[in-house]
Amino acid sequence: MTDPYAWLEQSLATIHRADWYRSVQPINGRPGATVVLAGQEVINFASNDYLGLAGDERLMAAATAAIAEFGTGSTGSRLLSGHRQLHRELEEAIASTKQTEDSLVFSSGYLANLGAITALVGKRDLVLSDQYNHSSLKNGAILSSAAVVEYPHCDIAVLKTQLSEQRQNYRRCLILTDSVFSMDGDLCPLPALLDLADQFSCMLLVDEAHATGVIGKTGAGCVEHFGCTGKQLIQVGTLSKALGSLGGYVAGSSLLIDFLRNRSPSWIYTTGLSPADTAAALAAIKIVQQEPQHRAQLWQNVHYLKNLLQQQLPNLKLLPSESPILCFQLPSATDALKAGKQLREAGIFAPAIRPPTVPTSRIRISLMATHEAAHIEKLVAVLKDINYTDHELSKTN
Ligand code: PMP
Repeated sequence: MTDPYAWLEQSLATIHRADWYRSVQPINGRPGATVVLAGQEVINFASNDYLGLAGDERLMAAATAAIAEFGTGSTGSRLLSGHRQLHRELEEAIASTKQTEDSLVFSSGYLANLGAITALVGKRDLVLSDQYNHSSLKNGAILSSAAVVEYPHCDIAVLKTQLSEQRQNYRRCLILTDSVFSMDGDLCPLPALLDLADQFSCMLLVDEAHATGVIGKTGAGCVEHFGCTGKQLIQVGTLSKALGSLGGYVAGSSLLIDFLRNRSPSWIYTTGLSPADTAAALAAIKIVQQEPQHRAQLWQNVHYLKNLLQQQLPNLKLLPSESPILCFQLPSATDALKAGKQLREAGIFAPAIRPPTVPTSRIRISLMATHEAAHIEKLVAVLKDINYTDHELSKTN
């Protein structure tokens, strides 16, 4: 008899050979702009905690108080024993910041995307999805059994052609897009997507995971930034990035939310968000609303880093970005790993991102409001010291 698991070892060996192997390393202590990573103090450019709220005393106090009052677990599905008034308060707060009629909180952003997409489309329907969309949108589309067509990144002209050719063959159509693309840092062309959705009678789902708390006048995301509030949109997001907690949400019309409560498997058949996570997210939303200075500082840091890079490393071509996510490409996974290692040895945590997460290997830098000027200056100094080959720099030109 052959070992039915033998292929695992061969598969892992293939992953190793391509330099695609990934492992985890523990961070000790509270999250922040500097952390202790596997015993080494590093400046942290790898976090999604854009506003530095994951280590904020007020979120921790809210979570602790919620545990004291409601215990640690929600004990069941929201439809059974798992619903708390705190969940409703959070959903009302999200709907209020997103300017939608209602919202629904899921146990993660990933589950929010899976739940919304699988509830909205099925076998007779069409999903059109940006090629750089997050895994949760792509897998939601696959899981839904709808026909899935990817359009080239942010390419409105191709999307229009695809809609003209295919829309009439399907019952419903759902367009999926990230608002901030998580591994590039650029924004989707939301107004143009909305126009196409109107023209071809499509639903449009926008994932604001990296935009919530970060983009828009009040931090409500790209929908606010582009002035698209009030439009018929499905807004999805996470509570785990700028909001410093855990969980996800869908925001939209009351009709949509009522439907999802009845038809979203990843909401119905899973335990309600824990009281601690719910309370921490609620506290974060209040801070985002009441203290715009954190967002202002984050953007100041973004501009400071971009200016320094332009002055001191003009050949290092960053991917186009309008967010706190800044990336530069390297020719191969091996080169990206090498650069990530050199950064790490110099006390900078800005990891290599490689296939299959992205089509081309890169170093990804994500900024936080709590980074100090000295942190950013050190990053630039270390980037200058990395031994890029001419090939690498010309590739990025
Ligand atoms: N959407 C995007 C664009 C993301 O980057 C992520 C997280 N990496 C998610 C959804 C999933 O969110 P969560 O971590 O809350 O599951």
